[in-house]
Amino acid sequence: MANLDRKTALHAQYLDAMGIQRWVARSSAVPEAGVAVTKPGQDFVADAADGSVALLDWDTLQARVAACTLCGLHQTRTQTVFGVGDRNADWLIVGEAPGAEEDRQGEPFVGRAGQLLNAMIEAIGMKREQVYIANVLKCRPPGNRDPQPGEVAHCEPYLQRQVELIRPKIILALGRIAAQNLLKTDTRVGALRGKVHRYSTGAGDATGVPLVVTYHPAYLLRSPGEKRKAWLDLQFAVKISRGAT
Ligand code: SF4
Repeated sequence: MANLDRKTALHAQYLDAMGIQRWVARSSAVPEAGVAVTKPGQDFVADAADGSVALLDWDTLQARVAACTLCGLHQTRTQTVFGVGDRNADWLIVGEAPGAEEDRQGEPFVGRAGQLLNAMIEAIGMKREQVYIANVLKCRPPGNRDPQPGEVAHCEPYLQRQVELIRPKIILALGRIAAQNLLKTDTRVGALRGKVHRYSTGAGDATGVPLVVTYHPAYLLRSPGEKRKAWLDLQFAVKISRGAT
């Protein structure tokens, strides 16, 4: 019973970090599982070096990324930020690109936004170590500017290979940059929320991985009033990850 109480208290703590009043957890206001099949185009640069990225295993993929000079961002990075977490995870969480702290530490989502992401993960009953976290870009854009299309095109095969290796049950896209680049759309985040999209790597992957869109934790820190929507998105994503499409 003591363990149960502690677990309940911890969960309440994570919900507090999300700015969620606890009654919301029992709300039925989860977005409906409308299915919007949005497959990314196949017009990405097909190789991230010599066309063999699609064949790489984890270690060689990580080494390839660490040595990558395909776009100009290699000139200003401290190090690449490959991704972190369980390589057999059910959940793949994808953000935009490393920031200053991520560039320093070599890990995605550290710092305040990372702490909020951890709270979001814990709020749905998982730990950071149980998911896999990566970004659209593996190197930091100077001054945290938006990624440029050419940079995304060069870097995308690395993320695609990560998706193929992980085979997640769901991809959670955090924020505009991740969502729009993964789905090859310029639709705003607000309109992409509450729908099941599909991310296809194109490698014998006809239906693709279910993909749900929510707000980026950095945005939620600036706009805490939106945390409730993010909480609904997380609940929706849990439902989809359990096969409720
Ligand atoms: S952002 Fe991606 S493509 Fe550009 S140098 Fe880094 S790893 Fe290579």
